[in-house]
Amino acid sequence: MANERGVSSPRIHVMPSSLANKIAAGDVVARPASALKELVENALDAGAQNINIEIKRAGSQQILVRDDGCGMSPEDAVRCFSRHATSKIRTAAELNQIWTLGFRGEALASVAAVSQVTLKTRRQEDHQGHLVRIHGGEIQASEPCAAAAGTAIDVRNVFYNVPARRAFLKSPATEFSHIVDIFLAQALANPRLGFSLVHNGAEVHRLAPCPGEDDNRVLRARVEQIFGTRYGRQLIPLRESTNYISAYGLVCRAEQMRRSRKERFLYVNGRSVRSMSLQHAVMSAYEGLVPHRRYPFFVIFLSLDPRHVDVNVHPAKIEVRFDSDRDVYGFLRAVVRKALGSADLVPQFDAARPGTLHPRAPGTSGLSITMQVESDAGRKPLVPKGKLSDVVYAPDVAESEKEGAGPQIWQLHNEYICTPIRTGLMILDQRAAHERILYERALNTIDGRTVASQQLLFAETTNLDPRDLALFDELHPLLESLGFNIDKYSGGTVVVHGMPQGLRSGLEKYVLHEVLSEYKNNADKMRVSPRENLARSVARSGAIKAGTAMAPEEMRTLIDELFQCKDPYSSPSGRPVLIRISKEELKRRFSKAPL
Ligand code: ADP
Ligand code: MG
Repeated sequence: MANERGVSSPRIHVMPSSLANKIAAGDVVARPASALKELVENALDAGAQNINIEIKRAGSQQILVRDDGCGMSPEDAVRCFSRHATSKIRTAAELNQIWTLGFRGEALASVAAVSQVTLKTRRQEDHQGHLVRIHGGEIQASEPCAAAAGTAIDVRNVFYNVPARRAFLKSPATEFSHIVDIFLAQALANPRLGFSLVHNGAEVHRLAPCPGEDDNRVLRARVEQIFGTRYGRQLIPLRESTNYISAYGLVCRAEQMRRSRKERFLYVNGRSVRSMSLQHAVMSAYEGLVPHRRYPFFVIFLSLDPRHVDVNVHPAKIEVRFDSDRDVYGFLRAVVRKALGSADLVPQFDAARPGTLHPRAPGTSGLSITMQVESDAGRKPLVPKGKLSDVVYAPDVAESEKEGAGPQIWQLHNEYICTPIRTGLMILDQRAAHERILYERALNTIDGRTVASQQLLFAETTNLDPRDLALFDELHPLLESLGFNIDKYSGGTVVVHGMPQGLRSGLEKYVLHEVLSEYKNNADKMRVSPRENLARSVARSGAIKAGTAMAPEEMRTLIDELFQCKDPYSSPSGRPVLIRISKEELKRRFSKAPL
């Protein structure tokens, strides 16, 4: 029927399902690797012990996934290709309780809509297997066949009927690297299962099942299979839980940073997820330790009640949302920092003794504990802020020292500061500790959070060469915000009236030269912002040097100030600030019986 303007209104019709599936497939199957992901997830959901994958031409010619899982009945073998056919959820309520990887029932329909699929499957209890061939969503054959128990899905020529999409595939190298990403993510998430990956007839990975009870041990064995024993052995384990969320996994040491940013494996309830915010949480735990263009390697598994996670926000289910995003962020950051603090930056000899992030107060909900962790992680050191007396000594004080005289502190070789703690002995590097304090103070001052300028009794006049003068001009506003108070005169003459507080004494005369020369040095070596560079430079040039005698009161103040830092464990350049030697280690060294 024509309307007033003579345009006939189009008639609505229902698309044939093959067309609808082809359109919807775009959401699920973006590239061969996404088809692989769905197939492997199905094999995992089917309880497979071994998953063998064969790929040809980066997946554009063939993706074959074989599993020894539960298999399907002949009816299900056909039904599984219909949209919204799933054995995994039945009711809307179950959407809040998802433990399987799949649940939408659209993966196979989508894959089959854009490729040529042959499925062979047999349940353990059946004598005969069943074969289904389906091209572009149209069933070509459905018949009994001989088949091993389990399921084999052979996907050929992805996007053969969607030329536009096929044209958008990237180079085989790129597509294959996506395939490897999927493979590794699944192989790491399921270390107790066997996996193999063959590309164009050549074996890329063959990973035997890693048996064992302990999740971290099993994971480490799998990491060693993939990344080498030497690399895997060095990784730091983490494990932490509150009654809202728990985490375990492995993170790399500062010196194990990788060039590839892909080796960051993060899982939520066993599902590999891509979350900018969570990646950031981990990265930020390494703050100050990551050189330019290097990325930490980590494999971290978070688990929490599925009711608190929404995995349904992305068609390929790789993005997640939590009902309490901030808490999860804070928890993750704190957990990684703690792992780094205990094992990497602070080489602890009693690594076997697991600590607890926060003692769980009886009767409090997990959520409030997580929030507590978050606020600690965001703004304070994991060691609560405070004075030496209540930081190092209150939670960790030797019984005999609790009351009475306070702690003994002594200096070793004018370079280290030693002090007993409840669990043994703590040794600080005086210079690294002072650098950390000055660095954080500098950042706080630049950011306007504290004012820490100290006027000189006698202004210092000095001359800058043309190169330093140019740098000085460039940095002048930053220098001022850092607590320098400097006037410039003609001919390269500058007069320093004030400088940041707390720098070692005797530096007044040289401070500007030292800071500028550190700054240039850093600028050559690393890519950091001027703000960061300047903070590091001031810390480095202003810190007390090794070989300087310190009075007990100075040492006490140093320790107090150190433990008010956000990260008391590492110097700005990533060196350890302190080490602890446990009583157990001392006993062991002296060949005494273990406790
Ligand atoms: P979903 O995984 O979301 O349920 P899929 O389209 O991926 O949807 O799969 C549909 C159904 O086919 C699954 O629910 C499952 O019952 C069955 N299925 C798929 N792959 C396998 C497999 N490898 N082994 C056994 N059953 C499978
Ligand atoms: Mg699925």
